[in-house]
Amino acid sequence: MRLAEKTAIVTGAASGIGLAVATRLGAEGARVVVADLDQAKAEMAAQAIRQAGADCAVAICDVSEETAVARCRQLALDRFGRLDIIVNNAGLITFKPLEAFTGADWLKVLSVDLLGAVYFTREAFAHMTAGGAIVNIASVHAVETTPQVAPYAAAKAALLSLTRSTSIEGRKRGIRANAVLPGAIDTPMLWENPNIKSGVETISPEDVGKPDQIAAAVAFLASNDAAFVTGAALNVDGGRLARL
Ligand code: NAP
Repeated sequence: MRLAEKTAIVTGAASGIGLAVATRLGAEGARVVVADLDQAKAEMAAQAIRQAGADCAVAICDVSEETAVARCRQLALDRFGRLDIIVNNAGLITFKPLEAFTGADWLKVLSVDLLGAVYFTREAFAHMTAGGAIVNIASVHAVETTPQVAPYAAAKAALLSLTRSTSIEGRKRGIRANAVLPGAIDTPMLWENPNIKSGVETISPEDVGKPDQIAAAVAFLASNDAAFVTGAALNVDGGRLARL
């Protein structure tokens, strides 16, 4: 198995894309830390991952809290003895016209969607085993966007920049960093999007992907099959960004 003996932390792993990623990494042999906000949801996810045969631990972790991120890293080391993979997947999106977003609104999104990954990257540089990999879950909104989601689009664009910086500074530590840009993926976040509910943004069924399709790309980037891939941004969007 590609990820045997490796330990992975997946943030936002109790739902949607994160759950699919944690399940896939576990199926490929990794020991997985399910990091999320809600204990009951995270325990349920961990139970499903264990039933599929993987070793799994739960960390209740708000990625926007530096101390919680450090505790999560320590839990991974205490429980599994090493840290090889971090998938920065936890994210949130908020909706308002650009002029209505307050400073606090901006900080709420940036602190989760960008700083969460910054904090985990710092932990990786200090504690990850050489040969490790970071995968940042960005979005097609890092490149093209829609009305009413300015902080989210800015955070995801900055996450691509962070990925490049991490790949450069991680090289001497033997740490790779890559980003995945999902298109529209069938998760609670997609269907709760008011732009989609109101019809401001329309998505045809063939443009909606499955969480497993993102997980497959993440598993590749996390594995040694991607040993010469770092600093990359991989669109996994069914070709949406390629169209005029
Ligand atoms: P989701 O189903 O809403 O799952 C996100 C998970 O992250 C939830 O379990 C959520 O917990 C958790 N979370 C939120 N804030 C957190 C925090 N501060 N610390 C730790 N965990 C936190 O969303 P998803 O669609 O799977 O999205 C996963 C990632 O993919 C996000 O980064 C998103 O931006 C990105 N993405 C999604 C799509 C899409 O179409 N679905 C497209 C492009 C990119 P609660 O539910 O308890 O808040």
